[in-house]
Amino acid sequence: MTTPGPLVIKKCTFCEGIFHEPTLGSGNNLGATYWTDGKCEAPMLPYYPILVMCPHCSEFIWLEDQETIDKIYWFDLPTNIDTLLELTEDGKKYKQGVAQQLEELEHYESLPQIAEPTAEQYIIFANTTDLTNEQNVLVRIEAWWLINDRQRKSDIQIEFSNEEKENLLALEKILDKSNPADILTMAEISRELGFFERSIALLEEHNLTSNEFGSVVFDMSKKKITKVKQVFLNLK
Ligand SMILES: [Zn+2]
Repeated sequence: MTTPGPLVIKKCTFCEGIFHEPTLGSGNNLGATYWTDGKCEAPMLPYYPILVMCPHCSEFIWLEDQETIDKIYWFDLPTNIDTLLELTEDGKKYKQGVAQQLEELEHYESLPQIAEPTAEQYIIFANTTDLTNEQNVLVRIEAWWLINDRQRKSDIQIEFSNEEKENLLALEKILDKSNPADILTMAEISRELGFFERSIALLEEHNLTSNEFGSVVFDMSKKKITKVKQVFLNLK
């Protein structure tokens, strides 16, 4: 089961506006769907982007860099002890505390929530902002996943726009060529852009043709198919 985490209240570094972010107490990968572009969709583990837009000033903000000003935990007061609590002073105090906390929760919940940027906004941000390599990779992948979301549950093949293609080429350039996971991403980018020979060569060169992801990308490249594809992992 998914357990909701605390309601985390943060302050934007640009405008000091207060907002809350959805967080997760615990979750799991049961029933997860994996895709050739690396995205994992798990119904029990909702995915939240780490770079979002402030709901007040619309600046891009890295969630982890925003100051946490409060955390409210969810809990239910069993109704059957409600009257019992009235019997003692401590019980009364406890009840008052709960009421106060619920009021606070209601107030915080009414605050605006962070907004997820569109793929286009992510790409413009990556193209115009001074980012670390790691941040640049994260932003460009975020855009790519959103773009591929259009195709995940549809049979229709949608062509990439020029900006979307350039995003993938820029991403490919900054990936780590000594990391097998990045090589798989590079092979997938090449396949999705229609550079099938390059995709095949990359996978062969790095002995990734029988990897769980690599074999799917390899097979699709051989068939000259560019669409993002679900990967069925043999999970133990
Ligand atoms: Zn702001």
